[in-house]
Amino acid sequence: MKISAVLLAGGMGARMESPLPKQYLLLNGKPIACHSLEIFLNHPMVEQVIVVCALEFRPHFSRYSVQFADPGARRQDSLFNGLEIAKHPWVCVHDAARPNLTAELLDRLIEEGKEVGAATLALPVKNTVKECDQNGFVSSTPDRHYIWEVQTPQLLTKEILEKGFAYANTHRLTVTDDVSLAELIGHPVKLVSGSYQNIKITTPEDLLLCQSISSQSPTMEAHT
Ligand code: C5P
Repeated sequence: MKISAVLLAGGMGARMESPLPKQYLLLNGKPIACHSLEIFLNHPMVEQVIVVCALEFRPHFSRYSVQFADPGARRQDSLFNGLEIAKHPWVCVHDAARPNLTAELLDRLIEEGKEVGAATLALPVKNTVKECDQNGFVSSTPDRHYIWEVQTPQLLTKEILEKGFAYANTHRLTVTDDVSLAELIGHPVKLVSGSYQNIKITTPEDLLLCQSISSQSPTMEAHT
């Protein structure tokens, strides 16, 4: 099984209130984007790594053997650009803003996803979730046992992604994750158990949490 990994690092991270996009802030002395990048580069099935990022940020990746694609206006446009140079039948898409990916999580996603053709790391929500109307009033309360929060990476065949993009482009649809493209064409998507540590850095407190997780991890492991 040969995989092209697409690392999405093309966002501007407006909610981080930092002049530098969040994926280039340092975590333990290394840009956030480079933490998960190394997991992909060291994986035996990943034969190509594509980093989607603007020209000015490419020097952050100069010591790695990667290819580059230009970012687009929306997340899905960035993926579309990366997909154009993907050479392998399987594509694994990851948010550069999720530095706590581990080899074990990636292995689990591949193991379960290869049977289905489309899969994502995900976890059951911890809180009750409300659906609301445009005026901010609750319209329904879904049973939270069936509500999962998705993470990345997400694994799909290149063929499913291309068919999903054809559908989304024809119908002018915006999607906020990658397996949604499989859903659009009616292809099943497997939810694979992720990790509460695999957080996406979006706001300043996420970065604090991430720093705390990485400083706590060795101690927690020592106790197990
Ligand atoms: O904005 P959000 O946090 O959902 O972005 C998830 C990931 O997608 C981030 O790593 C971000 O850099 C990337 N992205 C991108 N191109 C965009 C928007 C987001 O590569 N146009």
